[in-house]
Amino acid sequence: MQLDIHLVALVTNTGSSKPYSHLPRNRYESMTMRNQTLLLIALLMSVLAMSCTQEPRTDEAAEGDSTYHVAATVGMVSDIVKNVAGDRATVTTIVGAGVDPHLYTPTRGDIAEFQKADVVFYSGLLLEGKMTDLFERLAEDKPVYAVTDLIDEEYLLPISAGHFDPHVWMDPKGWTKATEAVVASLSEVDPAHAAEYKAYGAAYLNQLADLDNYATERLATIPDNARVMVTAHDAFGYLGRAYGLEVIGIQGISTDSEAGLQDINRIVDLLVERNVPSVFVESSVSEKNVEALVEGARSRGHEVEIGGSLFSDAMGKSGTYEGSYVGMIDHNVTTITRALGGDAPERGMQGKLGGEGH
Ligand SMILES: [Zn+2]
Repeated sequence: MQLDIHLVALVTNTGSSKPYSHLPRNRYESMTMRNQTLLLIALLMSVLAMSCTQEPRTDEAAEGDSTYHVAATVGMVSDIVKNVAGDRATVTTIVGAGVDPHLYTPTRGDIAEFQKADVVFYSGLLLEGKMTDLFERLAEDKPVYAVTDLIDEEYLLPISAGHFDPHVWMDPKGWTKATEAVVASLSEVDPAHAAEYKAYGAAYLNQLADLDNYATERLATIPDNARVMVTAHDAFGYLGRAYGLEVIGIQGISTDSEAGLQDINRIVDLLVERNVPSVFVESSVSEKNVEALVEGARSRGHEVEIGGSLFSDAMGKSGTYEGSYVGMIDHNVTTITRALGGDAPERGMQGKLGGEGH
């Protein structure tokens, strides 16, 4: 087994110019005569090497050979890849906590990270609207995957002809589909460890199922008259559809578009007429529009509170519970439920919200 890994590495390194050629791949079927000769030489050298050394290579060393590097755009995508790849990959997140991916233009350093990576993952559906050309260029010499690519159009929320709402992670059932796509993609890149990706993926999917159950149960406790969430931009459509909440974003699907005075006035009317108790700010979007709503409602004699800050397009700080996908959604579900008069434990699904490093 150890011998096999060693040999494949030698053969692919000499016979292929692919940037991820250090991945152990079973490429015997496509080998050329030249490669077969190299294999023979490599085999002889390996046998020689193994008979000369006192200590054979350890398992750890063999595993070390297969580590590869992934660059992912947003934290929600990185979280899937880290969970599915386990120790097989090191993962770099390009767009960090509190940063808006709609408007993000990659820096020189980011581009270097993408170029250094063996595999690139992004969310897709134009979430990373300013990186489309970059992904196309990168795809010329390495595998580049959008985790939403395999999601059925039937599931997606249409926003205009041929365009869909990119905020799929807001519904754990949507992110389940994205996880399945990552398992398939990593298995394609590194088929030797497909069984491992499947097993790690299954464990992660269990967490997502628990999260979905928690969201279903808690959000159902919000009284009928308060089942409307007003947020800074339209990021919560999938959440609203999954759990029966009306969602209203002051800005549109992308933060690219500016909200006008008319939009603000229209939403103030709604807050007053329906006696909505709370509106929400978002960690990656400016608060000014939401504050204008609160002011507008107050001038009409209706007190509306800011019900908390939600994670819309970026997770919480790295190293905290909210800096994981499960923690991010747990935070949102718990915050929304409590602010709209429903019933949820203060520290969330697993008692971890607002913990160490928060
Ligand atoms: Zn967004």
